[in-house]
Amino acid sequence: MKVLISNDDGIFSPGIKSLARAMSKLAEVYVVAPDVEQSAVGHGITVRRPLRFKHTAAAGLEPIPAYRVDGTPADCVVLGVHLLGRPDLLVSGINIGVNMGLDLTHSGTVAAAIEGTSLGIPSIAFSLDVGSRDVLDFEPGALEAVRIADWVRQNGLPPKVFLNVNFPAGKPRGIRITELSTHHYEDSVLKREDPNGTPYYWIAGKPTGDEDEGTDLWAVRRGYTSITPISLDLAAHEFMPQLRAAFVDG
Ligand code: MN
Repeated sequence: MKVLISNDDGIFSPGIKSLARAMSKLAEVYVVAPDVEQSAVGHGITVRRPLRFKHTAAAGLEPIPAYRVDGTPADCVVLGVHLLGRPDLLVSGINIGVNMGLDLTHSGTVAAAIEGTSLGIPSIAFSLDVGSRDVLDFEPGALEAVRIADWVRQNGLPPKVFLNVNFPAGKPRGIRITELSTHHYEDSVLKREDPNGTPYYWIAGKPTGDEDEGTDLWAVRRGYTSITPISLDLAAHEFMPQLRAAFVDG
């Protein structure tokens, strides 16, 4: 089995190192990741400038082949698949910080899995709740990631569906299959002045959301690993009859 690994924290992130090392026990792995952090860039694809694809021994992943790209996570998946061959599985992460609920549309970690899913490759996004912890420990999550990847290898995933996985801080108490919560970042816009006195603006945000039972946020905050199956079919089917009745004649 060939596994392509990407992320949005960049090729030098400790999260991708743990994931790649753990996965290499299960499969032939190769890493294609952004050269600098690309968190919150969503599913952007770079089409207005060229991209570089460079082998990177300095990522500290030897003997795992690792390549850095001066683009987005989705760019990494597109180039990785085209230049290195189609993988049997795509995994993204382990992200530093959760990607839950309403975060999914701007997460670069999740976007890599969306790109893989769009290309028909079974894909999984992994993120770690870093909470208030000073020391990041990706190892318990990396072990669980291998178990989940092994299940997907044997059972596959439905078309246009990927898994979004969030690990709790510390050793997980088990796994819960969850709904999406309302987790998101409450935007605030800071206004400052540059050295010339011209104002600039900085979008910041505090994570927030309801811990409704059965959701990703609920599970992770209680020490469980959360797995949410995500469909790329975003259409609101249940709303269509009402719209049809309003706008479609005959
Ligand atoms: Mn990130």
